[in-house]
Amino acid sequence: MNLLRDPPSVQPVRPAGLRRRALLLLAAAGAWRGARAQAEDEPVVHTLPIAGSQIEVQFAPGFDAPLRDEALRWVRRSAEAVAAYLGRFPVPRAELLLVPIDGAGIGSGVSYGEPDPLVRVRVGRRTDTTRFLDDWVLVHEMVHLAIPGLPRAQRWLHEGMATYVETIARTRAGLVAEPALWGGLAHGLPQGQPRDGDRGLDHTPTWGRTYWGGAMFCLLADVEMRRRSAGRAGLQQALQGLGAAGGNYSVRWPVERVLAVADAAIGQAALTELYALMKDCPRQVDLDALWRDLGVSPDGDGGATLRDDAPLASIRRAIVG
Ligand SMILES: [Zn+2]
Repeated sequence: MNLLRDPPSVQPVRPAGLRRRALLLLAAAGAWRGARAQAEDEPVVHTLPIAGSQIEVQFAPGFDAPLRDEALRWVRRSAEAVAAYLGRFPVPRAELLLVPIDGAGIGSGVSYGEPDPLVRVRVGRRTDTTRFLDDWVLVHEMVHLAIPGLPRAQRWLHEGMATYVETIARTRAGLVAEPALWGGLAHGLPQGQPRDGDRGLDHTPTWGRTYWGGAMFCLLADVEMRRRSAGRAGLQQALQGLGAAGGNYSVRWPVERVLAVADAAIGQAALTELYALMKDCPRQVDLDALWRDLGVSPDGDGGATLRDDAPLASIRRAIVG
């Protein structure tokens, strides 16, 4: 289940003046000193062209050639899912540092916007094709690149966008089945509801409110935007407009500007209005009513039955394209 996830790691502050390539080479220096260095003991860099952008994939020492090939297919698949949702890859150029770890599966990821877009992800040396296909971490990190840097109080918006758009983009790319998408959201979103002591999204930096509260904000905004436009425009088109206006992770904007630019792209103010409602106030969302209107009947096991006779079923279908 792609959404039954452990708490993702906290996005750390990037050390000032970090020279990534220098770090990569430093990591390799030990291997180079060896008289009989193997191929997997050296860093390898591949540049992938994706929808007009360039992703420089940097393999830290420790990947063998078959694993690198598998990982490059995963990077391409993930980047193309993001580019398909956003109309293009969010930044013209990004670096992706892949670091090997023991075991199977994709480990933690982190994204940095400045000074140059960089994503770092840990990859298990025994990760097979199925585990690469199931991964959500890389798409989540790449979605971060589409949102300008925000003040700490709105970290929930960055993580919410990455959490929500990741699962929609992967569904649209055929990597997640629609019942699993909606069942996963129905399972995860209740963790984003306000609890005792909540003071609104801008003032409640818990894990649940940051990731799932942010994702709930995005779903509510998407549904409202589609409702106001008879399904024609939603969060996808708003984020495409944000990107076209120069809004991505390589710049830092106040939240009001991010939301206003995204709203303006589709001639609405739904994001700005929803933010005003939720930023300082612990609003419970009637998710049961939302699922009923969207025609989603969660099965309690991560899946869902989908009905097309529900009042907002056409909006549900428009969200996944
Ligand atoms: Zn994240």
